Amino acid sequence: MTENPMSIFGGAPDLDAYKAPAVTTRDKRVCICGHPASAHATQNPNASIADAWKRMKRDKCKTGKTTCPCDGFIEILESEKMNHFVFRTTTGGQNGHALYRGVAKALSEGKTVTWTNANALQCLICSRTEPPLYIAAMTLGGRVSEEPQPKNVFLCEQHYVDQGGTTV
Ligand SMILES: [Zn+2]
Ligand SMILES: [Zn+2]
Ligand SMILES: [Zn+2]
Repeated sequence: MTENPMSIFGGAPDLDAYKAPAVTTRDKRVCICGHPASAHATQNPNASIADAWKRMKRDKCKTGKTTCPCDGFIEILESEKMNHFVFRTTTGGQNGHALYRGVAKALSEGKTVTWTNANALQCLICSRTEPPLYIAAMTLGGRVSEEPQPKNVFLCEQHYVDQGGTTV
């Protein structure tokens, strides 16, 4: 047998060219809408153009079965485990919001969640930063909604209630 198995092909190629590319670290960022950065076509560096195009035509944010009208990725946290951030915003006050449900789910399974965007962790209206802050899907008219909306914001308790939110 030949010493170099590649010599059967007539030569020894530059094997460095065949090494696996440096491992791309998985994107751990979660959007304020409650879904992974990778669900947002414009925030996934590995998305194919066809993939991004499909998402843009169909939904602006899509993860698993969840569709979401989020109109732009805003980083809010990093999570050890991304598959907890697949909920749909629904009824139940802020407990029904996709972000709240994702964080609660991750913590219930002992996973680490880290807030990474202090600028977004404040009431949209009065800039209060002290807890409690309420995560809200907000209609274009500025009302708190229990359906997915293009905008998701934090509000202090007073402004959450003023804008139509229900505290539980
Ligand atoms: Zn989003
Ligand atoms: Zn979303
Ligand atoms: Zn406020």
